[in-house]
Amino acid sequence: ETSATLAAFDGNGTTADGHLVPLLANVGGAKDAVAAAGLGAQGVGLFRTEFCFLERDTEPSVDEQAAAYKAVFDAFPGKKVVLRTLDAGADKPLPFLTDATEPNPALGVRGYRTDFTTPGVLERQLEAIARAASESEADVWVMAPMISTAAEAGRFASLCAAAGIKTPGVMVEVPSAALTAATVLREVGFASLGTNDLTQYAMAADRQLGPLAELNTPWQPAVLRLVQLTVEGAAQEGAGREASGGAGAAKPVGVCGEAAADPALAVVLTGLGVTTLSMTARSLAAVGTVLKTVTLEQAQELARLALSAPSATEAREWVRAKLPVLEELG
Ligand code: PEP
Ligand code: MG
Repeated sequence: ETSATLAAFDGNGTTADGHLVPLLANVGGAKDAVAAAGLGAQGVGLFRTEFCFLERDTEPSVDEQAAAYKAVFDAFPGKKVVLRTLDAGADKPLPFLTDATEPNPALGVRGYRTDFTTPGVLERQLEAIARAASESEADVWVMAPMISTAAEAGRFASLCAAAGIKTPGVMVEVPSAALTAATVLREVGFASLGTNDLTQYAMAADRQLGPLAELNTPWQPAVLRLVQLTVEGAAQEGAGREASGGAGAAKPVGVCGEAAADPALAVVLTGLGVTTLSMTARSLAAVGTVLKTVTLEQAQELARLALSAPSATEAREWVRAKLPVLEELG
């Protein structure tokens, strides 16, 4: 029964009334990318490049990096691949970039911030990405992790432009970026919500600590509100451009945190207006199957329900109770 329901999934993310929400995969390297393509991913929404170099204590050369990136791009010819620049630090230390003696690594020099202390590594990575992209057929987008301000987004976009990368974006995983999404998005072409860190920072709860798991769930209404604010910021930025005579479409805001892999939460995120969902490839079929059972309007209704809940537990229970297909999935 379960397998029959999942087997009916055709690989495309769409609601019952045909609203498209492309389903993408989170990958850490070529092996994951090939597996994700086989499981029907419509592209890659998060390529965690630090996973290619976790064993290294010295910076990989530009050649080495270009080869690792091209191997992922080659799994998705003609498709979108969103590559994230090195997200070193906290739960993912890289000896050539991070200081193991920091007292609060999650609040420390991690992600984009490593460029403050180890300049040059980011430029060389962008050079490797640009080279790999030019030698592949993938539609390569590049985003920076741990962006906190519009100024950082602007600087990242300048570095991308200097390297010949045309589609710069940012992860929205720090609450300050969600709260200022309109100004952040003025600087870049897209945003991707990292709900794992966004939850950790909104709830002030270390994502690695088991006893804090109740706090550390993206079903927290506060986290959903930050998602909503990001989507609203994107709409506001688009409207601002239209008012000044430019194209007025809102820039894409996807989700690439674990939240997207929870089918019920994926429906809520769709209702909140996110444009793509990126997840571990083994969740694609379940998410796609559940999404097809609701209209966009129903998803919006479920999003309102979750936002109005007094707790994460109730948000999750209330939404799940309205999605009978979940029973079939087990
Ligand atoms: C996130 O923070 O949600 C995310 C996708 O990035 P990572 O889990 O790699 O920090
Ligand atoms: Mg993160």
